This record gives sequence, structure tokens and C-alpha cells, in this order.
Amino acid sequence: MVTPDYYEQFYCIGGECRNNCCKGGWDIEVDDDALARFERISGEFGARVRGAVNDDNCFRHIDGHCPLLSDDGWCEMVRHNEKLCVICDEYPRFTEYWDDYCERGISISCEAAADIILKNKEKVRLTGKSKPCADPVFKIIYRARNRVFEILQDRSIDIFTRMSLALDYTAQLQERINIDDYECEPDFKPTDCRNRHISAAEYIEFIKGLEVLNPHWTDMLNKAYEAETTSPAHDADEVVCEQLMVYFVFRYFLKGAFDCDPLSKMKFAAVSVMTVIALENALGDFAECARMYSIEIEHDEDNIEAIYDEFLFGDALEYGNILNMIG
Ligand code: SF4
Repeated sequence: MVTPDYYEQFYCIGGECRNNCCKGGWDIEVDDDALARFERISGEFGARVRGAVNDDNCFRHIDGHCPLLSDDGWCEMVRHNEKLCVICDEYPRFTEYWDDYCERGISISCEAAADIILKNKEKVRLTGKSKPCADPVFKIIYRARNRVFEILQDRSIDIFTRMSLALDYTAQLQERINIDDYECEPDFKPTDCRNRHISAAEYIEFIKGLEVLNPHWTDMLNKAYEAETTSPAHDADEVVCEQLMVYFVFRYFLKGAFDCDPLSKMKFAAVSVMTVIALENALGDFAECARMYSIEIEHDEDNIEAIYDEFLFGDALEYGNILNMIG
């Protein structure tokens, strides 16, 4: 298993967490094995656990939180030494497979994970081992991702230039993949393909139309949109933005091997970071903005699909426009 080097630092801070995931409003589906275990829990606690699950096999939301969350912010299941369902046990970790090749990371939607990722001053490295994947598309995208990491972590140049170069490089990679040429990476020649100036407002306007979990998110987007249309943010902490870019690239870029479309994954990383910068510009607290973005966008498959569709078939978020958003 391959992970970012910060992966093992994660532990749940439970009672100390200001944004406990058990209050997140998510529908947590309980897997069949866990349901069977819940049936075997005896006594009053067993009845409580079974009563906490609704007819759709999801944990209920009562007074805005999971019924098994205790007043001190810890899960009653843990206190009773009962095994959690898969989703609760895994969160905020995520796992992805490409045949036998496996990577794991932690999601920035969790407050503790966001702290680890965004407060890290060092360049992130990947650690661990996994069996290789022989797929030629995977291999070229895997090698290209290493190059993208190098570009994004070159601290001799500013972060927005690094993001533009990474996007440019990925566009050239995509051209190779489009003609089924998987033999070697692009001989990277930076190009100037800017079309017109847009700000993050255009992307924010688009994501305002997507599914929303927490109504507060809509307020946040409205404020960021207003700020971006009057004075677009183009200033941000270089290292924090680098860490967020590397996080998105780690999590999504290799998924381009599933659909031969690494460019959409790179665009998603770039517009996501620009949006978090815009949110911070309007509201402050970069980590909290990144956490909310992750909850509302990353954790909603329909939203991610809608964004990828817009990248492929829409005009507003085409490649040159995203370069201009950064530049
Ligand atoms: S959001 Fe993260 S730190 Fe907070 S309770 Fe959930 S897993 Fe623990």
C-alpha cells in the first residue's frame, strides 16, 4: 500500500473535534456484516444500536447528529468495544485500487486530517510499496504524476506558475493518450494558451448549481462569488496551496487511468485550489474553507461527475480558461 508520508500521523480527535463527522449530515450506510453484528449485541445497548439504523440501513440523524454520538463527542460503539461499520471505521481514510496496485490517503474533509495536510511545511513524499499495475495507461499516468509532483513542489517558482505548468504538462500528456501513445511521457514544452481572463467566479457560479449538504455552504459560495467578481483573490500562502494541490493530485490524477482522462483530474485540482483561495479571500480560514469544499464537492459523487462533465462538454471551464483563472 502506498500512502503520503503524513498518513500515519492521523488519529481521530473525537471530543476535541469542532466539526465532528457524526454531526456532518451524511447518510452513513451500514454494511451487511455490521448489520449482522448489530443483531447480536445484547441488552439495552443492542436495542439502541439497532434503533439507530433506519429502514434504508443508514444511521438516523437525531438533533443533527448520529444517535450513537455521546455528549463528550465520542462514539458509543467505541466505548462499548463494538466493531464499527466499514464507513465509520475507514473515515477519513480512502483507498483506491488499480488491479493489485493500492493507494490510501486521508480526506481533507476531516478537521484533524486537514490540519495534518495543510500545516505540513515539508514537501510531501509517497511511502510504502504495492504490487505494480501493468496497464499501459496507468503506467504513463503514474510516471506523469511523479513529474506533476516535481513541478508542484518546485519552490523556486511561485505556486500559480507551478499550477499553470502542471496543467500545461497534463494537457500535453492528454494529447498523447488521445492518440493511444503510451510509450513515453511528453517532451514537455511550456506553451502559452491563455484565452481570456476569468476569475474563480465562473467555477463558483457553476458549483452553486450542484447538490448541497449544508445550507451554510451556499452562503459561503455566495460571499466568495461576490468577492471574486469585485476583487478576485490572487494571493495565498504558497506552501499551503502546494499541499492542497498535491493532495488533490494524489487523490485524483491516477484515476485518469480509469477513463483515459487525467486532464479533467488536473483541472479539478486547479479549480478546487483556486476556489478554496477565493473562499478564504471572502471568509478567512483556509483550512475550514478546504474542509467545507471537500465535504460538499469531494464527498458527493454526483457533484464530481457534474464537474467532470462540464470540463469535457462545457465551454466555461475549458483548459485555456482555467489557465487564465490561475494566471
Ligand atoms: S471529523 Fe475527523 S477528527 Fe473529527 S470526529 Fe470525525 S474522524 Fe474524528
